Amino acid sequence: MEREVATLDLRALDLAPGAATRLRLRVPAIELRSGGSDYVTDPASPEVDVEVGRSLSGLHLRLRADVVITGPCWRCLGDARVPLAIDVTEFQAEGREGEEFDEDLDSAYVEPGRVDLGTWARDSVAEALPTTILCRDDCAGICPVCGGDRNLVPCDHAEETTDTRWDALREIAERLERGE
Ligand SMILES: [Zn+2]
Ligand SMILES: [Zn+2]
Repeated sequence: MEREVATLDLRALDLAPGAATRLRLRVPAIELRSGGSDYVTDPASPEVDVEVGRSLSGLHLRLRADVVITGPCWRCLGDARVPLAIDVTEFQAEGREGEEFDEDLDSAYVEPGRVDLGTWARDSVAEALPTTILCRDDCAGICPVCGGDRNLVPCDHAEETTDTRWDALREIAERLERGE
């Protein structure tokens, strides 16, 4: 089992310009709130693949991971398992100490000598979350009339389509939560 790393120590990697390395490690458990429900990574500390390269212009980072997020399905409240493929990059230009943050030259996750891997992984997973989290694409949901789980028990009210108004409300609530 790889060790769990929240902060990557760049000084320990000691990369000369032109050098690159690839690390397989685990990041701390990722917990997210979406649509008013809690979601966590399974396994708790997901394995990630980190590439760190240094050029004359700066530091090039790539984070890749296949993670699974678990939590309640928005329609039936049953267990949903959402696989997410994460593949993101960051760049931090050389010699930027003391300069004002510039999104073309600076990475929000890179500080002198280290990378905040935990926050980067968490933000990347949050970004990759689908807008609607379902146990399966065609989840029939809970019947608004009789309250039965339509995935288990077909009821006479089944011809009424799933009430998507709640999805829209949840999306709005989620946007507010994110501060959009
Ligand atoms: Zn469901
Ligand atoms: Zn019903």
